[in-house]
Amino acid sequence: MESLISHYQQLLGLPSTWNVDDVDLSLPHKRVTIKLKYVGQDVKCPECKVSCSIYDHAPEQKWRHLDTMQFETILVARLPRVNCKEHGVKTASAPWADKHSRFTLMFEGFVVQLLQHCASTQAVASMLRLSWHSVDQIMRRAVARGMKRRSKEAIRHLGIDEKSFRAGHQYVTIMNDLDGGRVLDVVETRTTKATVKLLTSLAAKQRKQVLSVSVDMWKPFAHAVRKKVPQADLVHDHYHISKYLNDAVDAVRRQESRALKTAGDKTLIGSKYAWLRNPENMSDKQRAEFDQLMACELQTGTAWSLKNMFRAFWVLTTRDAAEYFFQYWSDAVDRSELKPIIKVKDMMARHLDGILNFTRHRTTNAVSEGLNSKIQLIKASARGFHSLKSYRTRILFYCGKLDMAI
Ligand SMILES: [Zn+2]
Repeated sequence: MESLISHYQQLLGLPSTWNVDDVDLSLPHKRVTIKLKYVGQDVKCPECKVSCSIYDHAPEQKWRHLDTMQFETILVARLPRVNCKEHGVKTASAPWADKHSRFTLMFEGFVVQLLQHCASTQAVASMLRLSWHSVDQIMRRAVARGMKRRSKEAIRHLGIDEKSFRAGHQYVTIMNDLDGGRVLDVVETRTTKATVKLLTSLAAKQRKQVLSVSVDMWKPFAHAVRKKVPQADLVHDHYHISKYLNDAVDAVRRQESRALKTAGDKTLIGSKYAWLRNPENMSDKQRAEFDQLMACELQTGTAWSLKNMFRAFWVLTTRDAAEYFFQYWSDAVDRSELKPIIKVKDMMARHLDGILNFTRHRTTNAVSEGLNSKIQLIKASARGFHSLKSYRTRILFYCGKLDMAI
């Protein structure tokens, strides 16, 4: 027994103030229970770290540790309590665990590594015989650790986007570092107040260093940017414009399809996705079918051509050329007399400054799109999400590029 105890003492790597008092092996439960005992003369106050005398010992607590040869391993200890002159009676912190955790730091570190390789909380939970909630708590502590370690270095180009949650009934607003390709933070709702809160999560010095913020043409985002990073250029990039243009083409298609159907013409039925594809992404068969549709001289074809024509805008490199092109495109849109596209063009004209700013910053929307598709996957596996808090935790865990090591 003596040798077993010293064996565990070495394996656990405990500070000299803690001893292994007893090791219990339960074969039927496949469990190793290691009892630890505090043997120090005095103990540090968890608040001020000043050495104080021991007041008494808190009731027994348990922590799950890494398995020993497939045996579940539990640490058991009574933590000493200090009587600090300044803070009163406090329970000392355990060197092997975070406050309020029922797991050792090494166990939590292992769970974090598993989660990083296997995106499903449920899979990790059942692999380690843990509850979904326990894994969620470990992720939260890991994210908190990583957020605390973040440096305050300059971030030049920000992106702010909304994401729906719970079938579009609720929203979160996400702030991205476009150069770093990472999510900086997530807040509930998409109001000015929420966006201000998001921007305030950057240090004051960082806010002063921001050159541009890419946003949707949603007013509250612009208001918050004006308020908190007034020197930065607002940019509406390809990513934020193309969605509106695609929706406008679809609105024209629906209108026209209804009218044709009434007249017994089924040309547009089932063509929704054909109008959303870009020509370079079409297969030969799709291309042939699409050419046939275009040959019908439909209003939807005109709307699609206008949308496709605007793609040329994003390769322009000077503000003057961009402004000239926008005017030229606007005239073509007006001549089409297609209301859904005209409506989007009018909105773009009201936000023209932000659209033209793209020529100056050329922020890549690939980053936003990449992060968004990752977030989409998180949302798709979100069956068990109990709250927006869990959604935020997962976005930061998988897209925050955080240092979450223990
Ligand atoms: Zn104290």
